[in-house]
Amino acid sequence: MTTLFLTHAACLEHDTPEGHPERADRLRAIHKALSAEQFAPLVRDESPRGALEHISLCHTDHHIVEMRHLSPSSGIVYVDGDTSMSPGTFEAALRGVGGSTRGVDAVMKGEAHNVFVSTRPPGHHAEITKPMGFCFFDNAAIAARYAQRQYGIGRAAVVDFDVHHGNGTQDIFWGDRSVMYCSTHQMPLFPGTGSAGERGEHDNIVNAPLASEDGSEKFREAFDTLILPQLERFSPELIVISAGFDAHYRDPLASLNLKAEDFAWVTKRLMEVADKTAGGRIVSVLEGGYDLQGLMESVAAHVGALMEA
Ligand SMILES: [Zn+2]
Repeated sequence: MTTLFLTHAACLEHDTPEGHPERADRLRAIHKALSAEQFAPLVRDESPRGALEHISLCHTDHHIVEMRHLSPSSGIVYVDGDTSMSPGTFEAALRGVGGSTRGVDAVMKGEAHNVFVSTRPPGHHAEITKPMGFCFFDNAAIAARYAQRQYGIGRAAVVDFDVHHGNGTQDIFWGDRSVMYCSTHQMPLFPGTGSAGERGEHDNIVNAPLASEDGSEKFREAFDTLILPQLERFSPELIVISAGFDAHYRDPLASLNLKAEDFAWVTKRLMEVADKTAGGRIVSVLEGGYDLQGLMESVAAHVGALMEA
């Protein structure tokens, strides 16, 4: 079966301040890693520009208008302490949204078994009404809602193994029983949300916080004992992955100490659930991952696993 890889050159044009960890070189590193011989079977395509009406499935119109309004014609403007916009940011963010919806189209139409969307800026910290933590629009959440609206999917899941908690995704689905959000993340760490007691209005949120230095064993245990059983019971018809690779031991922003093979492992476990309940359909979107070597190894492990479908 086919794994589709989506990206767009516009995502290199979201400029962040000198020394900022979320930088265009991240995508260049990923594309270099995926140029290796073993990834030749990937079907590669450009991420289209996402539609504003699809962003509004998860965000207020005010937020969307504000982002366009704040978009500078030159230089860089800050929208919070560590999140900024350059002239290319809005277009880059739209390509992330378009990658999500195009990815959903591909798996729903049977064009691909699964999809990896390599775009930036990331999305999972963007809340319903505001940008946050390098993020503007929540690509993973938009993928889930778009699948529901466009294809009549009843239950969708977003599984987030980025080392930070996806407060934005949790915010969007807090009162929505039709979407399960599951997350492993280091705690305490930015953004501060994601305790096990935060379960949503319908027990549809599964937070599995981990401690600094917890490593592979605790990470896998969290999936095996907490996330995967609840996910399987929920029986999603589509799994969206918020694929952040900043839990890798080399990453400068966290210290969860995972290895590349842990990302292959979790990907395969999620594929097993997807095979049982979702016809194998997985749309994986890039979130964090800030050490270039760690990112290359981790994405290669993740995409390599997806290709084994
Ligand atoms: Zn992160």
